[in-house]
Amino acid sequence: MNNNKNRIAIVGAGIAGIALAILATKQGYQVSLYERDSKVSSMGAGVTLWPNAIFVLQQMGLDKEVKRIGGIPSYMRQFDQYGIQQGELDIEEVNTLSGFPSVTILRRDLMNILARALNDLGVEIHFNCSMTAEDIGKLKQEFHLVVGADGRMNSVVRQTLYPEKVQPCYQGFINIIGISQLEEDVIDNAIHDFRGLGERFGIVPIKAGLCFWAGGWSTHIDKERPLSAWYDEMHQRFMNWPDPVQNVLKFYEKSSLNRIFVHDLDPLPYWHQDNVLIIGDAAHPPLPTSGQGACQALEDVWHLALNLEKKDELDNVLTDFYQQRIVKTSAAQTAGRQLAQRIFTDSSEPQSSVAGISAKQLSEFWMQGLELK
Ligand SMILES: Cc1cc2nc3c(=O)[nH]c(=O)nc-3n(C[C@H](O)[C@H](O)[C@H](O)COP(=O)(O)OP(=O)(O)OC[C@H]3O[C@@H](n4cnc5c(N)ncnc54)[C@H](O)[C@@H]3O)c2cc1C
Repeated sequence: MNNNKNRIAIVGAGIAGIALAILATKQGYQVSLYERDSKVSSMGAGVTLWPNAIFVLQQMGLDKEVKRIGGIPSYMRQFDQYGIQQGELDIEEVNTLSGFPSVTILRRDLMNILARALNDLGVEIHFNCSMTAEDIGKLKQEFHLVVGADGRMNSVVRQTLYPEKVQPCYQGFINIIGISQLEEDVIDNAIHDFRGLGERFGIVPIKAGLCFWAGGWSTHIDKERPLSAWYDEMHQRFMNWPDPVQNVLKFYEKSSLNRIFVHDLDPLPYWHQDNVLIIGDAAHPPLPTSGQGACQALEDVWHLALNLEKKDELDNVLTDFYQQRIVKTSAAQTAGRQLAQRIFTDSSEPQSSVAGISAKQLSEFWMQGLELK
């Protein structure tokens, strides 16, 4: 271990990496942030930031900007593939119970807000730095703490903690995601969740007709198949689905389309060794059906920053962090898997999950552990 108590290295300038860089810099740490890409990534169409994420963004002083740019949905409505409503969640009620709003936002907008805040603190991101296991070994010697915020699929930092190779697990379905600009008022201020047997199409409004969406269905992985074939299949599968689906498929930005074979990971028994730690998707990637990946990444950052403030022995800080976070992140992973299984694997009639969870239950789960000390 080294003596430089004030230096933190972060690998990966995604949501978790940049957010941690902001909070740690504000605490007086000297932060070095390394990103393999040449710019801040806007991969992924959009995210819904539930009240737990907005709580953290408020602590970072970024909630107002996020609300200004994003949308505030009032309801989440679930329909069958014929457009018949099956259930409804009153998001405003969840917000009131939680004390924070829920915000929908394009990923590129969220990343810009985070990157600007970091830049305002005078911290530069080291781009084009694809870190290797050897690099992590060097960082370990130079820094007080090395944090892997390097994402779900190929986290190098996770590989250094688990040399026996922990592999993300394919969960049997694909998502095609995109962004569409619709004519105003075509879709009201509700998240729309259409479900068929083994198929799902979700549409998330932001504002003024701007929305992001994901079409999913169960399938085997085939990375050789051209993207255009997947996109054609999507059009065919959903061609007779209700009007909002037809609308987003008519008006999407071509460059926003992406195909994702959806993976997650079983909960891990530890997230750190010596002074190397993993957070966010590198540590506990949930399925998108949990709606909580980015939210949990932000919660990690808030808890870790609070623990670092205690100036305790680093091993105690990181052990406490794991113990504070493992139950909630595992619950989000489990919830994501259960919902995915109901939609994409079970051959029974599609079920209503929205109707099965009360606003109170959701708000209690999301706000758990987020008390101001
Ligand atoms: C279709 C879909 C929809 C989703 N919807 C939601 C939602 O509505 N709400 C929600 O909360 N979450 C959602 N999520 C999950 C959310 O996107 C992730 O949980 C979140 O991005 C995790 O943030 P992160 O910072 O941990 O990882 P990432 O955002 O993946 O960032 C990792 C960063 O590390 C960099 N990196 C990787 N390897 C290296 C290396 N070797 N060296 C340097 N840099 C490296 C990458 O380039 C990247 O910039 C969704 C995910 C998907 C796939």
